[in-house]
Amino acid sequence: MTDAVERREEVRAKIARATLDAGRGDSVTLVAVSKTFEADAIRPVLDAGQRVFGENRVQEAQGKWPALREAFPDLELHLIGPLQSNKAKEAVALFDVIETVDREKIAAELTKEVERQGKRPRLYVQVNTGLEDQKAGIDPRDTVAFVARCREIHGLPIEGLMAIPPFDENPGPHFALLEKLAREAGVEKLSMGMSGDYETAIQFGATSVRVGSAIFGSR
Ligand SMILES: *Cc1c(COP(=O)(O)O)cnc(C)c1O
Repeated sequence: MTDAVERREEVRAKIARATLDAGRGDSVTLVAVSKTFEADAIRPVLDAGQRVFGENRVQEAQGKWPALREAFPDLELHLIGPLQSNKAKEAVALFDVIETVDREKIAAELTKEVERQGKRPRLYVQVNTGLEDQKAGIDPRDTVAFVARCREIHGLPIEGLMAIPPFDENPGPHFALLEKLAREAGVEKLSMGMSGDYETAIQFGATSVRVGSAIFGSR
């Protein structure tokens, strides 16, 4: 338990150093990825002051976060895994940020739920920078137009882009591509970088990094 708290401190220190080294005056948000870990493992990290968490499955998050949120009403929960359109209702109800908008059908479902529930999660578009078949996300070439359609047709204010570079490639060019697409699409937030490459992502302009195993241990 304390291990996760100590490792979080190390990650925070590395984020601060990487941000300075990149000559950046802003700060980078640490999204602590708690997927597969039980509430008992998450609580000490909340007690230590961490407030932003990422989960990749709606159903798993539903099982543990409502009770944690009662104890910590100021926490912020990000959905970082693929969203099925039949889970849009639950996702809008539970998450503060949905990072994985990647197709029209999801955009339409989210619009419906936002109107129905009167709750407005912040939204990012996921980009499949490596054009990997097995990976979710929109084609980089369609990203700017898709962000525009989300805004104009669906009335969804897209705030950011998110990507997971191919496992076996140098992530730098993927981070650079995401940063370029964000500028072209006119979005501010860049969710990129995981346990193995978050310092690199910060060099390329990440505004948030999603770090799981470097905090909670291996899954
Ligand atoms: C699991 C996951 C992470 C965290 O991965 P680690 O390598 O454990 O830091 C980040 N982003 C997404 C989308 C994930 O599914």
